Amino acid sequence: MRLVFIGPPGAGKGTQCKRLVELLQIPHLSTGEMLRSVKRQDTALSRWVASYIDAGKLAPDHLVMRIVAQKLQSEECANGALFDGFPRTIIQAQLLDDYLVENGLKLDMALELRVVEEELIQRLLKRAQIDGRADDNYETIRERLHVFRTQTAPLTEFYAAQGKLESVDGMKSEQEVFAAIKACVAKHS
Ligand code: ADP
Repeated sequence: MRLVFIGPPGAGKGTQCKRLVELLQIPHLSTGEMLRSVKRQDTALSRWVASYIDAGKLAPDHLVMRIVAQKLQSEECANGALFDGFPRTIIQAQLLDDYLVENGLKLDMALELRVVEEELIQRLLKRAQIDGRADDNYETIRERLHVFRTQTAPLTEFYAAQGKLESVDGMKSEQEVFAAIKACVAKHS
């Protein structure tokens, strides 16, 4: 199974993705993780990537697609993958669709995790105290939420038009959210 996981920063995507990849036995492709790993190197590219991440802005679409495509070519992605934090723009969604068509593959489902904005800010500020992630500060959080609202949220319509969208209420407990996700997976398997 190949699925896209859409949700604002702080919605609990990371936690649910871990459970989901274990259940489905597919690789977890987190573009946030991939970009942070590029950022940790000391190259011109890593400094360029850092300038986007640290400001809460999206990295360029074609760069992200290139990184994802490299992963998709590996054998372990032959039978499926969970895309976490990708696509994040309509252009990325189109690039992914093109890539999949060209390679004779398809996307089975787009899963949306919904959480209200006030709750997201609280959760992210708490995470900032615990993990100390550089982009979890108030200004960057506001910017990332704005970017989500304007650039990523429209993806739900894009996938609804393809009949692939499922929405889950992310305000419930971790267990309840996962149960709802499992029901969506069963529907599209
Ligand atoms: P969060 O969902 O909490 O913002 P992520 O780990 O998914 O965390 O992303 C962190 C940052 O990495 C984003 O703010 C952005 O700068 C960059 N990033 C991640 N995925 C993408 C993507 N698909 N396209 C562009 N930039 C991305």
